[in-house]
Amino acid sequence: MNDLLLRGGRPWTPGAPVESADILIRDGRIAAVGAGLTAPAADIVELAGALVFPGLVDSHCHLDKTMYGGPWVPNSGGRTLSGRIANGEGRREELGLPNADYAANLLGAMVSGGTAYVRSHIDIDPEVGLRGVDAVRAAAERHRDRVDVQLVAFPQGGLMNRPGTGKLLEAALADGVEVIGGLDPAGYDQDPTGQLDLIFGLAEKYGARIDIHLHDRGALGAWQYGLIIERTRATGLAGRVTISHAYAMGELAPDEQRRVAESLAEAGVSMVTCAVGDAPVVPVRTMHEAGAMLALGNDGIRDLWTPYGDGDMLRRIMTVAFRDRLVADPEIELALTAGTYGGAKVLGLTDYGLTVGAAADLFTVDAEAPAAAVVSVPPRGLVVKRGRIVARGGILTAA
Ligand SMILES: [Zn+2]
Repeated sequence: MNDLLLRGGRPWTPGAPVESADILIRDGRIAAVGAGLTAPAADIVELAGALVFPGLVDSHCHLDKTMYGGPWVPNSGGRTLSGRIANGEGRREELGLPNADYAANLLGAMVSGGTAYVRSHIDIDPEVGLRGVDAVRAAAERHRDRVDVQLVAFPQGGLMNRPGTGKLLEAALADGVEVIGGLDPAGYDQDPTGQLDLIFGLAEKYGARIDIHLHDRGALGAWQYGLIIERTRATGLAGRVTISHAYAMGELAPDEQRRVAESLAEAGVSMVTCAVGDAPVVPVRTMHEAGAMLALGNDGIRDLWTPYGDGDMLRRIMTVAFRDRLVADPEIELALTAGTYGGAKVLGLTDYGLTVGAAADLFTVDAEAPAAAVVSVPPRGLVVKRGRIVARGGILTAA
């Protein structure tokens, strides 16, 4: 592969002004960043002042559930969590889910929008078994040079109240799935101690990360943050535990939000917010001020849970910023940070960013300023993955 020289772009670093710089990419990594770079044998792309961002990180989606690119299916999920779970399980066979083609369609759309890394929860229960893992792995394989996909073994139908699921989660981890999931240990599973003991035990045994869906609202939700923080400290899993959705966090009084955010930061527990529907959003500024890790994701896209979504992480960053009333440029850039560097921390990426030595994963847009890029969600220019141009103008290049 030839060297790639991106000339005259404006690379973005959180909290710093954007200035013109060239980026030289060699062997899939950033070899140099600076003014007036030359590389005689390199392919040269003139960026003409375009902004350059590190590859987007979708830290929470459900590739196994999607029907992206398939026929339109009118939503029949209803409005309750238990109703949507029953509908999701009840109709998946009729609709051919989980489906590697649909998952691959969605991954392609994600890549064309600048996403370089994805964490996908995969439903596991005694009926579907590990078929979702197989389908999403097959889809990820088709896009292996375009995007990295991390899987979560997710007990969508419950764990303690769904006999047989725990063994299947363990089988998934034994088979190399990187993350163990959970679901409302109190509100849905009705056994918070049992579920958390099981999940943390499996994480320790298999060296897995943890990512728990926590929709429980109000005091019940906030109480479980404490349980998760306590167990993270006790097991030494700082930096490896995530609470997804965390709706209760968006409902607490501001001083309580600060107290929780400080505990999360101190224990190394992150949160992921998706700004789903009218559900509360984790307060972006409070998390930043406390030094707590925050990442963003699209959650369900064109599935039995929601007819909405297009996989565009930049649009999701805008939605989170809009819902959280981030209006000043530095505030809007906090959402951008969560959708990039925040996701990299949650996924455990060690060579992420636009600095020398990092993996060359990036995308470009024409916009005056980083905040303007969030607000206007402009078309993507180039998308580069490990030093190779994988999409241009929203269209995937040949593999
Ligand atoms: Zn989810």
